Parts: sequence; structure tokens; C-alpha cells
Amino acid sequence: MSVATLSDVLAPAVEGGYAVPGLVCLGWEDMRAYAMAAEAERAPVILQAGPSCRAHTPLPVLGAMMRNLAESVAVPVVIHLDHGYTFEECQQALEAGFTSLMYDGSRQPLAQNIAETARVAALAHGAGISCEGEIGFVGYADGEGSAGTDPDEAARFATESGVDAMAISVGNVHLQRDHEGGLDEARIRAIEALTATPLVIHGGSGVPVAQRLHLAQTSRIAKVNIGTELRMAFGAALRAAIAADPDRFDRVAILKETHAPVMEAARAVIRGLGASGKA
Ligand SMILES: [Zn+2]
Repeated sequence: MSVATLSDVLAPAVEGGYAVPGLVCLGWEDMRAYAMAAEAERAPVILQAGPSCRAHTPLPVLGAMMRNLAESVAVPVVIHLDHGYTFEECQQALEAGFTSLMYDGSRQPLAQNIAETARVAALAHGAGISCEGEIGFVGYADGEGSAGTDPDEAARFATESGVDAMAISVGNVHLQRDHEGGLDEARIRAIEALTATPLVIHGGSGVPVAQRLHLAQTSRIAKVNIGTELRMAFGAALRAAIAADPDRFDRVAILKETHAPVMEAARAVIRGLGASGKA
């Protein structure tokens, strides 16, 4: 083992009072460091390929790399499509070996979001894998603003779409470089009061570390996506490795030096969600 589905890892997380990190991958070096971090922490982990990752590397290649990593460690690893925008893209991810499909219809009107997400959820469940949907748009730093999740709409979305996990907009913003944001806990409690579906926070890098752990322990938030924080660790390590020796040109030699710092940063993220020792 240990290719896992999203529901395999989220149900125990809700039950056990921790959250599983959804680690944003851009290539082989970071995804390998994340898999080894999960193994070292004895934690479940979600490796996810978002739109910029897929623009750089084709889905079948990403699926093969992630499955190879999942099979090389003893802890559960979910191979997750992040922000799929079309049914066809979700279908391609399924064929490429992904075990979890996120369909993002959060820019659409509620009824359309429900109908399209339900179609992807049916595709996923028919193949024995999982589906994540998003209700309430999560904005981007220096970009589109957020539309907070309405608790009643979330309850309807969860029931009618059949998703295994639901991403919500509760003050979280993608691509934040500091931890100043903070989430609206009252809105999270209001959503939780109306639905039992595990909840997902996108833009986790912007959430204060203490609040991540508090919510992982006390709410139904079971997946927290972390991208920016780890991309910053990778970028800093890469810059240092290049600066350390101006004569070096072999990229494998340079990239090797990113491994330890990125793995350490990922281990810190895992510990910060209470997921260590849970695999
Ligand atoms: Zn996202």
C-alpha cells in the first residue's frame, strides 16, 4: 500500500482531531521531499497537482510520478487533482492514476456548481476514488476577491453534489505570503452545524499556524492546502544552492540541495496540523 483516496484519509482525521496537509506540488523535487516528509512523520499526506503544475507537466506524467512515490512509502498518499475546471480534465486525471478529483465550480451559480460537481463525484465514485468540491469562491492575493460560503448553500451543496470533501471560503485567500489572515471561526461553526461533510481550507499558507492546529483539533476541517509557504522554502533553498557555487551548472547537483530544507518545511507543516504519527 499506500496509494489512498481522499475519503480514506479524511474520515480518520475528522474522528481523530487533526488535518491532513494538501501539499501543492510543482515537480519531482518537491513531491519527493513531501512523500519523504510524510514517511518521516508517519503521517498521511495529499500530493496535489494544481493548474500551474499541470501547465508545466502533463497529467499522465504527474500521475505516474505521484504513484511511484506513493508506492515507495508506507504511509497513505492521496494523488489529488487540485482545481479541475472541466469534466474532461477530471476524466484525464482519473485515467492518469489520480485517486481524488477536485472539481472547482465555485465561480458558477449554485445550481450549476452542484450539477457539474455531482457529475464529477459520480465519475470518481464509479471508479472507487474521491471527489472534492468548492462552495463559495476563495480569492487570490492581489487578484479576485473572495465570496464567503453561505452555510445554507454549503449544506445543500454537500447533500446534492455527493462530494467527499467540501472546500469553503471563510476568510482564506490563495497565495498569501504571511500568516496574518485568520479564518472566520463563527462562519466555520455555522457551516459545521448544517453538514457533516469534511471541510477543506485552500490558501492555508495565509492562516496563522496556531489557528490551523486549533481548527484541525476542534472542527471538521480535515484538509488544509499549503502551497505558497513551501514554494517559498523551495525558492530560498534553490537560490542558496546556486549562489553557493557560481561554477556549478549541473541541475541535479543544484536541485539536490533543495531536498533537506523542503522536506524539513513539509515536516513542520505536517506537525502543525497534528497529523504526525497518525499513519
Ligand atoms: Zn485552491
